[in-house]
Amino acid sequence: MERPALAAGSQVEVVTSEGLHLGWAFYHPKNAIALRMISFCDHPMDEAAWRSRINDSLTLRLRSMPADRANYRLIHGENDGFPGLTVDLYGKLLCMQVSCCGFEDMKSDLALWLMEATGAVAVFEQSESHARKQEGLPPTRGFLAGSMNFPLEIQEAGFKFLIDPSQDQKTGFYLDQYPARQWVGQNAKGLGVLDLCCYSGGFTLAALRGGADRVVSLDSSARALASLSTALQCNDLTGDRQESIQADLFDYLKLPADESFDLVILDPPPLAKSLRAEERARKAYRKLTSQVSRHVKPGGLLLTFSCTGIISSDVFQRSIFLGLRDANREGRVLARFGPGHDHPENLCFPEGAYLKGLLLFLS
Ligand code: SAH
Repeated sequence: MERPALAAGSQVEVVTSEGLHLGWAFYHPKNAIALRMISFCDHPMDEAAWRSRINDSLTLRLRSMPADRANYRLIHGENDGFPGLTVDLYGKLLCMQVSCCGFEDMKSDLALWLMEATGAVAVFEQSESHARKQEGLPPTRGFLAGSMNFPLEIQEAGFKFLIDPSQDQKTGFYLDQYPARQWVGQNAKGLGVLDLCCYSGGFTLAALRGGADRVVSLDSSARALASLSTALQCNDLTGDRQESIQADLFDYLKLPADESFDLVILDPPPLAKSLRAEERARKAYRKLTSQVSRHVKPGGLLLTFSCTGIISSDVFQRSIFLGLRDANREGRVLARFGPGHDHPENLCFPEGAYLKGLLLFLS
């Protein structure tokens, strides 16, 4: 069917083939995703409706999160009714990622409404996603409102981190691993830990403070490892219990495992960005699991994650099972981790459950 010649980002009414009203959506004339639902109600979205939705998102966080969390995801895309918009709050700074034309056109207004709702003093935009490219929007980074000096010191779960959204990955920190880091902090005593894809060291620091005997932290990014080193210093956790390795994960796992660990954490970047790549991603998780299991002692633990949205939790679990079978190992699930209450899941958007974590006991 030929698509109507309306501007990308227009708000349109969505009706069924029988003419029944379904809701409202942002429209795109060329992108594979033609419609992004923004409302299932009778009325179109206007300023009052957007502001009320921002307040809802804030209320949800304030009701559900530990009171001492000053940093959290305030807008989690489709899940909060803002398809293609992510907003993280770091104290008085908002970091926004826009990947949809509908919000591109109103991002300056959004920045002001968000500041009013939260009391933040600046909004930094970091919009460089693949999804943004698919909407035909250019990458962009810079302040949308106010300004602030970077790096910015944040306190997360009792640790200090320095973030710089003008240069870091994503908005500067992976807020979504809060629940799993808590577990690591409480259970690492006496363990040898391998933290694969460590970024600025959320897991590494939790393990060290939790009393791990030794932590080896690996990432391919020199910048990530420099952030880790700063974080170790800021939190008085430098010392010979910790070692950093700059290496490509896939190369590292091809090498013979000359050391095995009590706990291996594997938190790789997304392995597929489109539905077409689903099978490749499944195979990649299977292979990674088989390879990484060689680094886990018999009777040790594997804490493994997938943040690939198109891989469901069932598919991920099956790939892990197959990978362990390839390696002649067996796994039992001790716990499952998701991203915590600041990343809610919308009933109408099951794909929102993007982060899947399994804590496994490996025989
Ligand atoms: N565990 C981290 C977040 C990991 S995000 C935390 O708790 O903060 C994914 C990380 O994987 C990023 O730091 C990125 O630099 C790293 N990465 C991406 N591709 C990689 C590769 N091929 N080999 C090793 N690390 C990689």
